[in-house]
Amino acid sequence: YEVKRAGKGTWRHYDDALPSPQDQSALLTDLGLAIEHDDITVHYQPLVSLPGRDWVAVEALARWTHSERGAVPPAEFVHLAERAGLISDLGRRVLSRGLADLARWRTAGVTAGLQVNVSGTQLLAPNLVEEVALALERAGVPPSALTLEITETTLIQNVDRTREALDSLRALGVRLSIDDFGAGYAGLGYLRDLPVDELKIDRSYIASLGHSHEGTSLVRTVVDLAHVLGLEIVAEGVEHEPQARTLIEMGCTRAQGFLFGGPTAEGPPPERGGEEHSAADAGAQEEEARA
Ligand code: C2E
Ligand code: MG
Ligand code: MG
Ligand code: MG
Repeated sequence: YEVKRAGKGTWRHYDDALPSPQDQSALLTDLGLAIEHDDITVHYQPLVSLPGRDWVAVEALARWTHSERGAVPPAEFVHLAERAGLISDLGRRVLSRGLADLARWRTAGVTAGLQVNVSGTQLLAPNLVEEVALALERAGVPPSALTLEITETTLIQNVDRTREALDSLRALGVRLSIDDFGAGYAGLGYLRDLPVDELKIDRSYIASLGHSHEGTSLVRTVVDLAHVLGLEIVAEGVEHEPQARTLIEMGCTRAQGFLFGGPTAEGPPPERGGEEHSAADAGAQEEEARA
């Protein structure tokens, strides 16, 4: 039983700390209450343009601080929610919170979009499209400002069943993104057929940039593939300047990672939305984001 630890890119083994069945059911009860009481908060991480480093979107990432256990990693409680049938409730909260925040930022002049993660169970729920439409309408946000991220693993496990859901979401006007692309590699044929707008290259590939010739070639291949298919490409998990430089050379035009800013409770400042910023501005923003 392994869970990806945010912020390190390593694998953390929870075997020692694996909660007993009683602990797990207590945690599940608490998670249910946290969702019900709207105690799940949302942090936002920038997706930036390359080379300009303007904030083109923010990704909403769910956060839960348990009263006794402290911060529970999202990979852990999302998985728990998924198994316990709570994921649609959790997802609905994150979506409506994210859209409400986005609506506020837009009023202040922000042009960046919002990206929200959607789990497999959520994607296959019969009323997802209606819920998304309703949430957009309530927030007064146009569908084109919202991107839904679906992991590649989810897509390839249910290509036929997910296609219908994706078609309806596309018809609504929201953008669709394949998250963690490359982590669940199972052939590329499905990519041509799915109605998606964006590929996010899994951060394990970005981590290999510069370390191996093969790793670098793989990233280049995915960037080229995205261009051939007319898809937007986002490099995930960019942590170092040389990685950013290499990505720019490859023609990668969007990136996300601690280099540009980690997830925080803050949204994008209004002046970050536009295209008319100098490199000096971008540098200042970066320092600010790291502070
Ligand atoms: P994800 O959607 O791939 O989100 C990116 C994850 O990578 C986030 O972890 C983020 O903090 C982390 N990250 C960003 N930049 C870097 C970097 O430069 N280096 C490294 N090492 N990590 C970086 P986080 O917040 O722990 O979330 C983990 C996963 O939990 C997410 O992966 C997503 O699959 C899931 N998740 C989070 N919130 C939600 C949600 O509201 N709904 C659903 N269904 N899943 C969610
Ligand atoms: Mg994501
Ligand atoms: Mg991802
Ligand atoms: Mg990931």
